[in-house]
Amino acid sequence: MEERIKQALINIVGETNYTDNLIDLVSYSYDGSQHRHRPFCAVWPETADHVSGVLKLANTEKIAVIPRGAGTGLSGMAVPVRGGIVLDLCRMNRILKISIEDRLAVVEPGVVYADLEKALAPHGFFFPPDPASGKVSTLGGNVATNAGGLKGAKYGTTRDYVLSLQVVLPDGRIMRTGSKAMKSVSGYDLTRLFVGSEGTLGVVTEITLKINPKPSASSTSLATFDKLDDAGRAVSRIMISGIVPSALEILGRHTLSAINQNTDLNLPEVDAMLLAETDGYTQEEADFQMRRIIDVFRNNHPRQVQLAKNDREAGDLWLARKSAYGVLARIKSHFVLEDVTVPMANIAELLKGIEAIGERYNLQIATFGHAGDGNLHPQILYDGYDSEEVKRVEAACRDLFELAIALEGTLTGEHGIGLSKAQYMTLEHDPVAMDVMRSIKKIFDPHDILNPGKMGLDTQDE
Ligand SMILES: Cc1cc2nc3c(=O)[nH]c(=O)nc-3n(C[C@H](O)[C@H](O)[C@H](O)COP(=O)(O)OP(=O)(O)OC[C@H]3O[C@@H](n4cnc5c(N)ncnc54)[C@H](O)[C@@H]3O)c2cc1C
Repeated sequence: MEERIKQALINIVGETNYTDNLIDLVSYSYDGSQHRHRPFCAVWPETADHVSGVLKLANTEKIAVIPRGAGTGLSGMAVPVRGGIVLDLCRMNRILKISIEDRLAVVEPGVVYADLEKALAPHGFFFPPDPASGKVSTLGGNVATNAGGLKGAKYGTTRDYVLSLQVVLPDGRIMRTGSKAMKSVSGYDLTRLFVGSEGTLGVVTEITLKINPKPSASSTSLATFDKLDDAGRAVSRIMISGIVPSALEILGRHTLSAINQNTDLNLPEVDAMLLAETDGYTQEEADFQMRRIIDVFRNNHPRQVQLAKNDREAGDLWLARKSAYGVLARIKSHFVLEDVTVPMANIAELLKGIEAIGERYNLQIATFGHAGDGNLHPQILYDGYDSEEVKRVEAACRDLFELAIALEGTLTGEHGIGLSKAQYMTLEHDPVAMDVMRSIKKIFDPHDILNPGKMGLDTQDE
């Protein structure tokens, strides 16, 4: 980084908001994925004007800028693959307003998901997307990745709750999108264009979110199935039964056996375990929905059905699902956590296809995920120091993506494209759609300074 650029950055954000210390640069060289690349420096803006100043300078000097929240992304989205300036938004972390009357919250992008949850709880309200990383990931990151979670089938994803944004464009101009009104059909929906854009179009500096009254009652049950087809059919039947569960999770055979090998939970090693939760504003409402779900379980040849009688028992039933990611991550030196998503009726086919891919490449693939919205997490466990095994993992990932697309699904339901899936974008999106996406990127960012190299949009090397 040239001295004059360093000085210009310090003039914009202040000395204490600039770093080029090696230890910071190493910390900013990775996220939750396997990708690594160091930036030239990092800044901690405190205002939208700071962000604007940094982007104006970077645009003039043609230096890459990489917006960053908590760095929990799983696809290399915040990895500075071309060096440049990391724009860490963690110091813009104020909850600016909670208006129960208007059912909205206004926040800066560095607010951690769980901190908003904490602030909303005394009002009896919540912000539903609930990513599993919510204790650390930021709302700016959640918006930029359209984060979702366990409650997606009933409550949708971040996209469904963003009413309005303040965004700084790559040339430094500050723009507002959307409206604080619950309904608006005014102009193009620029808000939705930014949600899920992975920091490639603009830097989000303020977010207005719709919030919901929090259901006060819930019910939890679990069912195990010897045959995958029965579990798959149960999922489809639940989703057409007129009930929308607040969670419907699935754990496959390899996940159950891995959990058994690494904990004392002693789960039945069946083809699939389904975990269902219903919620409502009275216990009767939650119980009524759960009875319908249990009827569906019973009509589809379960080995066992269990209904939690109280919160402690519900916690016990959730234990297996909540331990899956952590247990699996410890089994081999490396893992890839994918998140392909298919229409719900194709869940059983997807699970069978994943097993076949594991056998074809002699790899341990353990699958769990959100059956209620068709989003599965096949976790491929491997030895990253074995180059031959790494090649098999790469081939298995390609087969997995081809399978999801063949089943009318998508490459990613939660974790985004980033670097990991950039090369597969054309599997899902036709040449016209790719051309339109690249044109949009060019309109916003003609010099390709904002988070370059991500999402397969880059035309620099063509
Ligand atoms: C254990 C674990 C569990 C996870 N569970 C889930 C889950 O259940 N659901 C889910 O969806 N994801 C999950 N993730 C992935 C990750 O947590 C989400 O993608 C999350 O939204 C990223 O937030 P972050 O603050 O860490 O963003 P980062 O990783 O720092 O950045 C992610 C992307 O957002 C961009 N960005 C960040 N802030 C801004 C901003 N203000 N303006 C513009 N662009 C910005 C970055 O440039 C980058 O492209 C999980 C990750 C881990 C490690």
